[in-house]
Amino acid sequence: MTVSEALLSDAATRLLRHAPGTDWWPGQPWTVAISAILVQQTTWQQAARAVSRLGDAALDPDRLRELAPGELGARIRCSGFWRRKARSIADLAATWPELNTCPFPGRRQRLLEIAGIGPETADAICCYAFDDPVLVVDAMTARLTSRLTGQPVSVRSYDALQEQWSNALDAPNNRAFRLLHAAIVEHARNICTARTPRCTGCHLHAICAHGNPSRTIASH
Ligand code: SF4
Repeated sequence: MTVSEALLSDAATRLLRHAPGTDWWPGQPWTVAISAILVQQTTWQQAARAVSRLGDAALDPDRLRELAPGELGARIRCSGFWRRKARSIADLAATWPELNTCPFPGRRQRLLEIAGIGPETADAICCYAFDDPVLVVDAMTARLTSRLTGQPVSVRSYDALQEQWSNALDAPNNRAFRLLHAAIVEHARNICTARTPRCTGCHLHAICAHGNPSRTIASH
């Protein structure tokens, strides 16, 4: 195990120890999947509004397929980028039967072929709608990783970031991946915030290069 891997393994253990441990993002698979698209580049509140406005179509892909394209767009307009999202959701509905029978990782690959679905959204759908063993990483994961290691990390290096954190878990399975992603997001939202991280009292302080500059990654 490299020094960086040991650091993230330690961080994952601490994050999970302090996480509430409750499941994150529960719901019917279809609702979870369209929510993953609707929340792109907007807030959860706006995505939830769009889900609510979809009514039965948010619960059943067959009902969504019955909506005229203009009607679908009109209902999700509040989530922003609604033309692109409407196309992605319509394509997702058309692919849904196939996604339900295609095992992971083929399912992930099939999702990535849908316009408007990138790695983060595909992994969110796989992990939270289909219970696949895959970790979602995002810009908050990159920010936390950068601060922990004291090295620049970008979410554009999605696959490498995902692999690093996946390897940080002793038992990489769906449950662990769900909890770790939730723990990282909660930590990044509430403690390791974008502008003013609350380093004093942070449970990662002792191992964090940003919060504890005297502790370099090499000495960990
Ligand atoms: S010590 Fe500060 S920078 Fe490091 S993880 Fe905690 S809040 Fe973020």
